[in-house]
Amino acid sequence: NKQVVMKGFIAGAPKETDMELREGKARLRAPKGSGAILVKNLYLSCDPYMRGRMRENYDSYIPPFQPGSVIEGFGVSKVVDSDNPGFSAGELVSGLTGWEEYSLISKTEQLRKIQIKDIPLSYHVGLLGMPGFTAYAGFYEICSPKFGEYVFVSAASGAVGQLVGQLAKLYGCYVVGSAGTRQKVDLLKNKLGFDEAFNYKEESDLNIALKRCFPKGIDIYFDNVGGPMLDAALLNMRPHGRIAVCGMVSQHGVSDPQGIRNLHCLVSKSIRMQGFLQHDYLHLFPQFLDHIVSYYKQGKIVYMEDMSEGLESAPNSFVGLFTGKNVGKQVVWVSKE
Ligand code: NDP
Repeated sequence: NKQVVMKGFIAGAPKETDMELREGKARLRAPKGSGAILVKNLYLSCDPYMRGRMRENYDSYIPPFQPGSVIEGFGVSKVVDSDNPGFSAGELVSGLTGWEEYSLISKTEQLRKIQIKDIPLSYHVGLLGMPGFTAYAGFYEICSPKFGEYVFVSAASGAVGQLVGQLAKLYGCYVVGSAGTRQKVDLLKNKLGFDEAFNYKEESDLNIALKRCFPKGIDIYFDNVGGPMLDAALLNMRPHGRIAVCGMVSQHGVSDPQGIRNLHCLVSKSIRMQGFLQHDYLHLFPQFLDHIVSYYKQGKIVYMEDMSEGLESAPNSFVGLFTGKNVGKQVVWVSKE
């Protein structure tokens, strides 16, 4: 049973050498009386929030990883043995599993059985999983969108951003995205249907870039990055604008986070800025699935994935989230069904 473990708590940007591959104990059955299930992991998800769990004093609703233990993350898995009456061998599930070939899962209550099988299986950790749901809850519940509004999305080609932009377009908004390479900018405009996009790494002044893209200002900023982009967006918000603070990937592991200087705009422009965790909106998950599956089957949305091959590629793929290596949702393919 090949496994990926975190060697020790980390500070600063994650590196591949913070993780290692090891050969764990072979698992053949779910122990009798354990109530657990044994699964074979097919796809594993790399998500930026996992960086938080690698910090020693991580204070969140989910505990930090422990040094020397297998990394936990979302995945798509197949049940191979079950000591739980709710699950049978052969069923497909998505939810928290281990970065290993086979995992014994005892917290089965957090798993979802996969019923939708005519959409790529890996989408259950992307479009139809936690990132897709984050886009859905964040856009509809936090942004309070209105037809025709001006919407800005950062990290726009990523797992969450690409869906936010498409949902905003379907809502009748004008949508601009930022991303870190020319290739991503091209995909935003030509594949994902954004009205405009720019490469923030090529802009000498983010405030000027946003003024160029939004001469009339921004109504909704869906913030995935925080830092200087948030500061520039604050200056460009329209009165009564909304900022959904989804994440601050630019600030992960930064020992001296850059100060935000333009918070005064919240007052002068009556802006609502709200952070959220997808976790608190899970009651909306069934309606999210109906909504997104229907859009997908009608060809109204597309979803980009960046798939790396083999469990051993997981550390490199994870680290790549923080340098912008991933083009679309980062998934690790572990095994065939
Ligand atoms: P992505 O697929 O977008 O991958 C991360 C991307 O962030 C990279 O590809 C890179 O794209 C960009 N990035 C990395 N470093 C920087 C930087 N220093 N400055 C600007 N951009 C950077 O990740 P997700 O879509 O999964 O997550 C997006 C955000 O949403 C994250 O902040 C994450 O923590 C948050 N999130 C929040 C949830 C919630 O419940 N609130 C749930 C899920 C995610 P580029 O090339 O464009 O720089």
